[in-house]
Amino acid sequence: MLQNVRIVLVETSHPGNVGAVARAMKNMALERLCLVSPQRYPDAEATARASGADDLLARAEVFERLDAALAGCRLVIGTSARERSVSWPVLSPRESSQTLIAEAKVGPVALVFGRESSGLSNEELDRCNYLVHIPTNSAYSSLNLAAAVQVLAYETRLAWLAAQGTEPVAPRDVASAEQMEGFHQHLAQALLDIGFADPRQSEKLLRRLRSLFHRARPDVDELNILRGILSAAQGRKSMRR
Ligand code: SAH
Repeated sequence: MLQNVRIVLVETSHPGNVGAVARAMKNMALERLCLVSPQRYPDAEATARASGADDLLARAEVFERLDAALAGCRLVIGTSARERSVSWPVLSPRESSQTLIAEAKVGPVALVFGRESSGLSNEELDRCNYLVHIPTNSAYSSLNLAAAVQVLAYETRLAWLAAQGTEPVAPRDVASAEQMEGFHQHLAQALLDIGFADPRQSEKLLRRLRSLFHRARPDVDELNILRGILSAAQGRKSMRR
């Protein structure tokens, strides 16, 4: 089950943080470290900070783009050092870890961490079903990257320990991150084609629609129905015809 939990670091600048994250993960028995365009990797400083977790570091998977790191994921949770103004549903660390563990029983899930300097962009948050915020001092809310991973990895371990020996309640099938992304691209194009909205001018509208579908978490059949409707509205041959 823990094999299904990916810890994704986006464009980390300090290799020491990458090493410290590997160590934090191994302590909590998490294994899959995914690096999206790290600024320096591999690096001796990362290996030194990983201490005995250099095996996990050596097995880290490196991707150029976030979408590639999220391939096949049924649930994506982003992290935020700030309380965001836009309408992403925010979970507490405890809620997010329980959700991750419940879903990791049936498929890959990801916890995504941002850059040391600027966190995650809105476009990256658009890939997330939920956000998790560690309730820090609001006057000084930003944790060191590896410290944030440590807190959430610990919560994930608590949720995993609590789930041992309980009957698994299988969550239903849902579309993967890339299927959802394909749908969102199609939706934006269809809104343009039917003259409802120009995606370049309606960022807020598209973000609200993303949030709606992230909450609904459609399965593949439902996504196909929605895409069929979009195609029909676009005047293309509907998939059902
Ligand atoms: N200056 C950035 C902070 C980045 S901290 C900003 O304001 O967004 C680096 C990363 O650590 C964040 O992207 C997030 O992944 C994690 N992090 C730091 N503090 C956190 C907190 N309180 N809750 C959740 N994640 C946090």
